[in-house]
Formats: sequence, structure tokens, C-alpha cells
Amino acid sequence: MKSFKDELKELLGTNPVVEVESRSCEGCGEKVIVMEANIFAGPRKGEKIQREVGCKCFELAEARQALVNHKKFLTGDRYE
Ligand SMILES: [Zn+2]
Repeated sequence: MKSFKDELKELLGTNPVVEVESRSCEGCGEKVIVMEANIFAGPRKGEKIQREVGCKCFELAEARQALVNHKKFLTGDRYE
């Protein structure tokens, strides 16, 4: 699985990533930082993306989604 940094690098190249706000996570109460940047290439070029960093909830959600995709792959659900 790609890390958040790798993913950002791919999407944003050298575009600056700015911190727009920090707040408490609704899931775990940890302080999270909302990062924002402009996508520099691809079909979503020019769009702003935001990502929360600082707690595990968002990473866990992504990991769960990856697992679901993997299971679909293994069981052939993707052909349905
Ligand atoms: Zn959290």
C-alpha cells in the first residue's frame, strides 16, 4: 500500500501542500491536520484535494477498502 506521502507526491509533484486546519478526529479524538493542495496533472488537474493526517482512522479506512478489493479479486466478484 502506498503511503500518504507517496500518494501526494504522485498527485501533486512539487506543488506546495498547505495546512488548512487542525481539529480533533471524530473517530478517536486525536488531533488531525487537514492538508490541502492542487492536483497538477491528470483528469482532476486543478482540483483541490484535502487529506487528514495525524491519526490512524483515515489510514484504517483505506486499509479496509484495500482488503475488500483484495477479497473481491480473490473471489472473482469483480466479474459480476
Ligand atoms: Zn482518528
